[in-house]
Amino acid sequence: MSKKRVSLFRNILQFSVLSLIILFFIGNQVGLSVVDFETYCPMGGIQAILTLMKDGLIACNMTVTQMVLGAIFIFCILVLGKLFCSHLCPLGTVSEAIGKVADKFKIRRDINGVTDKVLRSLKYILLFFTLTITLETGELFCKTYDPFYGSVTMFGHRVNFLFATISISVFVLGSIIFRLFWCKYLCPLGAISNIFKYWIGVGVVVAVLSSMYFFEVGVDISIIVGIICLVGYALEILKIDTKQQSVLKITRHTHTCVDCGLCSRTCPQGIDVADLEMVKHPDCNLCGDCVAACPKDGALTLNEKMNVKWLPSVLVVVLFVSGLLIASQYNLPTVSKAWGSNEEMAKSKEFTINHMSHLTCFSSSMGFVRQMSEVDGVLAVNTYISDHKAEITYDTTKIDELSIRKMLYTRSKQFVKAPQLDQPLTVHKLRVAKYLTEADLKIMAEALKDEDVYQLETQFDTEIRLLAFCDANMSESKIENLITTIKHRRSYPFEVKDVVKSNVPISGIGLMKRAFKKHKATFNNFKSYPREKLRSVMLVLEDFPKNENKFKELSNHVAKRYKGVVGIHADYEAQPTVRFFYIQDMVEPQDIINWMSQPEMTLVYTNGDTEQVTNPYKFKLTN
Ligand code: SF4
Ligand code: SF4
Repeated sequence: MSKKRVSLFRNILQFSVLSLIILFFIGNQVGLSVVDFETYCPMGGIQAILTLMKDGLIACNMTVTQMVLGAIFIFCILVLGKLFCSHLCPLGTVSEAIGKVADKFKIRRDINGVTDKVLRSLKYILLFFTLTITLETGELFCKTYDPFYGSVTMFGHRVNFLFATISISVFVLGSIIFRLFWCKYLCPLGAISNIFKYWIGVGVVVAVLSSMYFFEVGVDISIIVGIICLVGYALEILKIDTKQQSVLKITRHTHTCVDCGLCSRTCPQGIDVADLEMVKHPDCNLCGDCVAACPKDGALTLNEKMNVKWLPSVLVVVLFVSGLLIASQYNLPTVSKAWGSNEEMAKSKEFTINHMSHLTCFSSSMGFVRQMSEVDGVLAVNTYISDHKAEITYDTTKIDELSIRKMLYTRSKQFVKAPQLDQPLTVHKLRVAKYLTEADLKIMAEALKDEDVYQLETQFDTEIRLLAFCDANMSESKIENLITTIKHRRSYPFEVKDVVKSNVPISGIGLMKRAFKKHKATFNNFKSYPREKLRSVMLVLEDFPKNENKFKELSNHVAKRYKGVVGIHADYEAQPTVRFFYIQDMVEPQDIINWMSQPEMTLVYTNGDTEQVTNPYKFKLTN
């Protein structure tokens, strides 16, 4: 009964982690959950720790959670061994499972000798590029190719389709044909594990990082990373029999062992355990399968003395769960920049802006800091992407909080549906004090399309207000109820503080004109032609407002395709119209009508690339 314990605990843990990931993946796909799979990745955390040490900035959209998990990952390697790989990593679990199925068909091959040694360099090369690019750019390069992230996000944000497709294919094929191919030869986290498995590796990392951090040695970051990767690779291929500091090392007690060889045949890494007294092989991740397979009690143990078979599983859970609990207590700014002098800081004040949904990563944080650094009187900014908030420090003698808030505010507008042109409408102003984005308004508009609501807008005076253009009979309490229901359904973090009905009436046609985003463009040497040669034809947009935001594409298409057309002007006059300006003798009005009825438009980009897109417009000639 006790023989299978180590494997059993591990298998339960692996199965639980994988099941949770699959559940969250399905939840995300059907819209029941919004789990960010990066949140629990120690690889991102390690890179964030390094960018924090190098530049005082947290890479990409990493938070304290990933950084604590990254630190615990390293601690786990140093003290216990590669338990993360064998117990928690979903890629390791899937690769093992694929391999076990492949074994049944006897298609797995071993890679030995020089080929094995050369292939092992790949993960250090990948680690080198991953760390160097991340440290140079502040963006997590591993997201572009990570087979796990690429799969669970369905090639989501920042995933490079080509890189991720290659790595997913290599991962699957490698797992079928070879033993744990990804883990052994390509995983950069595996490379980090092997560096930290050896005292020499730890010594080199500590020496290099402290010289960089404490003594500010001005060496190019790629050289530093290169040295660490080279040392790791050398330690791995030479399998230097040096001291490994971890407490757990599989130990074979020769006086009890009956040399049956079961442990060697069971080891998923292909380590010849039966030929060793202590397993110091860099691939050993303490999975415990050899201990579980051993038929002789006490012949194989977790280290020289200890034989508590469930301990690795319990330790790894305790470590990583405590990490998550510790991380939940702290927060660090993603970007923290101050440029005010001591004198200015002395008379400064600070305030926090919440609900900044566009603060999602390192780049957006840096963009925000740049924007703020150009504002006279703003002295420092901290951004927190986990909470989508920013702390702004400002000089009270130069600017006030309200002016900064107004400056940051961007108006949003979302059409819900068209009213009757002669319909009397009313505008309700709801005080919400939340930075509602275009995306928020889009969701609200969708939810309100069966109500007597025609357009939503946001506005900033002393606070943010949501403007709802409704039928004149809509009461304040009804619109408040409608918005509050959406707020609860979507878990929006805002309260409707009050509703004020505007006493400025507006008609259906007034709203349509307001909703129409005007567009004016001239091209094809418009100014070079004499005025008397200029003619125009006006076409009515049949399906406004469905495609009213595609006028830039329309301009691009017309300008690049039809040389005699020199301008377009979209406006809502008595109806939504687009006026095409053309040069007499070069173009006939009927040509324009024919061209605009084509099913496709050709877009030409600044780099010369072209793209065929569906013509979204239906035009008719004005009467
Ligand atoms: S030596 Fe034992 S613990 Fe290490 S990987 Fe092989 S089976 Fe797992
Ligand atoms: S399985 Fe146990 S008894 Fe058999 S060779 Fe390995 S350590 Fe010895």
